[in-house]
Amino acid sequence: MKLDPKGIRYLTAEDWRVLTAVEMGSKNHEIVPVPLITQISSLRSGTGVHKCISNLAKANLISKIKNAKYDGYRLAYGGLDYLALNAHRKANCIYSVGNQIGVGKESDIFVVASPSGQQRVLKIHRLGRISFRSVKSNRDYLRKRQGGSWMYMSRLAAMKEHAFMKALWDNGFPVPEPVAQNRHTVVMSLVDGFPLRQISSVPDPPALYAELISLAMRLAQYGLIHGDFNEFNIMIEEQPEASNSSPNDTESSKENDDRSPNVRLNPIIIDFPQMVSTSHANAEYYFDRDIACIKKFFERRFKFTSDDPGPTFADAMKQAQRSHNQRRLDVEVEASGFSKKMAKELESYMQEVGVEGDGGGLSVKHDGAVGDATELEGQRDGGEDNEDLGEEDGEGEESDRPASPHLYPAL
Ligand code: ADP
Ligand code: MG
Repeated sequence: MKLDPKGIRYLTAEDWRVLTAVEMGSKNHEIVPVPLITQISSLRSGTGVHKCISNLAKANLISKIKNAKYDGYRLAYGGLDYLALNAHRKANCIYSVGNQIGVGKESDIFVVASPSGQQRVLKIHRLGRISFRSVKSNRDYLRKRQGGSWMYMSRLAAMKEHAFMKALWDNGFPVPEPVAQNRHTVVMSLVDGFPLRQISSVPDPPALYAELISLAMRLAQYGLIHGDFNEFNIMIEEQPEASNSSPNDTESSKENDDRSPNVRLNPIIIDFPQMVSTSHANAEYYFDRDIACIKKFFERRFKFTSDDPGPTFADAMKQAQRSHNQRRLDVEVEASGFSKKMAKELESYMQEVGVEGDGGGLSVKHDGAVGDATELEGQRDGGEDNEDLGEEDGEGEESDRPASPHLYPAL
């Protein structure tokens, strides 16, 4: 879905009030009646509210619902996007929005920049984008639920993703650094690499395979199963490896290093809305499926088959017991605010509307470019700061970064 952040700077303070009022009103009204919008926004003049409503509707931030018993409006995805972006802007988390680098079935991914020009990733969850339209019975099912709308479900997905990413990051797992979460969005660090899916060859497939399997095992030790552990959700980052040569090494060994630089391929795991606890009723199914996905991909892509048919879920549980690991991230996340009830709601939504993870998701090649970045700072907030991040980043080494021979993107 399109995200047009340029319009943000044209919204007046009154427009924001009215947009916020529509959002608040949607908590208990599927269609928010105009008098309620007026009341919540508590703008002095009624005509002012109408003008704002018309501005917001023109910008597709809210939509008028016809044929309803009363005149009313509904917050559109665009409006929710703006509210979230504005919150990130105010928190000095996002300064500008650049290229879209990923399009999933249930999310849109953008490169954004912080006020200091640091590149980050904005993931906008869009649950219901496809599913609501296609499955009527599910729509009815969701309507019956309290707050069971696309908005609520997308927010749950973002909350879950952020909570798990934070728990994993805090415990030294290779995941993007979580920066912020607001409404249906998560801001995280940019992984400077490619999804495994786009990599046609790696120097040492068995080593990478072993590392991925041990990651899945380590997750299980901490009480977690990724649930969608596959080539779409494993990014590979290149890291120049510290040379083993001592300072006294001869010139010739240095030359040798230059010809075949030691590069380490670091897997970084992303995409957590489907994570489950190892205590989940179907834990074994999810764990085995994760392992099977990795095996299948390594066989197909790198012609590598492990001699070991496992590990099975039972192996993972045995290892977890042996490790005497006291930390259960599934339990910690629950305590951090993403409750069991929320987890259940999200899970049943995902099951009912058939969110199946990434198998068929499109992934746009990430070139790290911010491109024609759009500043979120507008005149309203003294936008005299003319620093143009777009141009700055356009010159960055990353935008035309040639793929290393180790990471040729697959055709
Ligand atoms: P979805 O839930 O739609 O599958 P993902 O979180 O898997 O969303 O992201 C989709 C794609 O966006 C990824 O395959 C990857 O190419 C890109 N992407 C996501 N997060 C990052 C990140 N932190 N850094 C770089 N690229 C990312
Ligand atoms: Mg994904």
